[in-house]
Amino acid sequence: MPKRILIVDDSSIMRKMLAKAFEEAGHTIAGMAASGMEAIELFKELNPDLVTMDITMRGMDGLTAAREIIAIDNNAKVLILSNLDEDKYKDEVDRIGAIGLATKHNTDQILELVGD
Ligand SMILES: [Mg+2]
Repeated sequence: MPKRILIVDDSSIMRKMLAKAFEEAGHTIAGMAASGMEAIELFKELNPDLVTMDITMRGMDGLTAAREIIAIDNNAKVLILSNLDEDKYKDEVDRIGAIGLATKHNTDQILELVGD
């Protein structure tokens, strides 16, 4: 089933790339946020089916924002997106209850984790 996705990334290029990939796969973009604080606000407002979350952002980082979102709604589906070679986050991603960790530029892996 197509999902309404909230994209969180401080890079506008990355947000656009992800939006394009999701739309091409039949999903819709519920909204886009450029910071952790904005992500939390938009999550509450938009109630998306899934959130993709960048890790490194100024101010509140994505792992903290993901934890907050899951505290608000423990059924929230948050997919953490990292840059290359960031397996070091794997344990923390599991611990906070995110659905997974994918590499930002691996669109196939991201779409697989988002589901049909
Ligand atoms: Mg970033």
